[in-house]
Amino acid sequence: LKDFITAGFPKESDMEVVTTDTVRLKVPEGSKAVLLENLYLSCDPYMRSRMSKHDEPSYVPDFVPGSVITGYGVGKVVDSSHPDFKIGDFVWGMTGWEEYSLITETAMLFKIRYTDVPLSYYTGLLGMAGFTAYVGFHEICSPKKGEYVFVSAASGAVGQLVGQLAKLMGCYVVGSAGSDDKVNLLKNKFGFDEAFNYKKEPDLSAALKRLFPKGIDIYFENVGGPMLDAVLINMRTHGRIAVCGMISQYNLEKPEGVHNLFYLITKRIRMEGFLVGDFLHKYHQFEEIIAQYMKDGKITYVEDKAEGLENAPAALVGLFAGRNVGKQLVVVSHE
Ligand code: NDP
Repeated sequence: LKDFITAGFPKESDMEVVTTDTVRLKVPEGSKAVLLENLYLSCDPYMRSRMSKHDEPSYVPDFVPGSVITGYGVGKVVDSSHPDFKIGDFVWGMTGWEEYSLITETAMLFKIRYTDVPLSYYTGLLGMAGFTAYVGFHEICSPKKGEYVFVSAASGAVGQLVGQLAKLMGCYVVGSAGSDDKVNLLKNKFGFDEAFNYKKEPDLSAALKRLFPKGIDIYFENVGGPMLDAVLINMRTHGRIAVCGMISQYNLEKPEGVHNLFYLITKRIRMEGFLVGDFLHKYHQFEEIIAQYMKDGKITYVEDKAEGLENAPAALVGLFAGRNVGKQLVVVSHE
């Protein structure tokens, strides 16, 4: 990152790709460090927040201008003085947007247990995004068989799994997305019952009424703004809203107001925000369940792979224009 962004959409030119010819190929003596060869890097919407300077500490630290961008990724251990990580292990977790990363703080580095699945899935399906879908749906939404579920940004890294988990529970599931191709994916690849292109709907509330004539029991919120207002009108009594993200607001100088919160009272709706990081104790359980679903052919996952570190800035920026189809990641080096 060159410098902090004050407001507005991030641009490729906010980042710089730098070539250096010095690579530290050994971990320092006596340290508990791990040297990683980075294979895949994850592009995530929360990284936008890290590009701005916060006066008060945020839920994630700000990036350091002039330094390497950090984020989730998948790598291979090429040197280690840490007892839990051996040379040749595959790991996922916090790493740098660079070819090799020396990780001295290993609390957010996890050994990959299932190496018989595509390792890139640990940036999405089996990584932070998939885990977000799992805890958000199962822990926050309290779903029951037969309930009516709506997911926004439904074809993305998180949304595509939320919809499939809801279908596996026997729910009726509708997703919204920003292109006809994505809508097609929702219905024909991920098994959503219905889907719509929110950019083509002049009246979001009417669209929801059409697809949920009896109302919505569960809303998995990824976008915020006018969609949230339209959902509130269409919620059923005792509905639940899991507030996962509000991507439509991340680049606005002034967030849009939400006008229909009064329905929380009249319909006795529970609306709850959550952060995936609070559920790390459930990660192994999640990893096991999802890996099994995958092997049984019960779930599928779509990735959008940018090739090469030099294309990472465009891939990250593309999230905010909806250019990604499925989980956006960057291939730094092939397995
Ligand atoms: P996605 O893979 O879904 O990529 C972002 C997508 O958001 C885009 O493809 C685009 O899809 C949509 N989008 C972009 N701008 C807008 C807009 N102005 N209005 C509506 N939709 C927009 O991202 P993720 O699945 O990784 O993340 C989904 C959400 O989950 C985000 O809000 C993110 O911040 C949140 N999150 C929260 C976590 C938590 O712990 N609470 C952890 C991880 C993610 P389209 O073409 O459909 O518009």
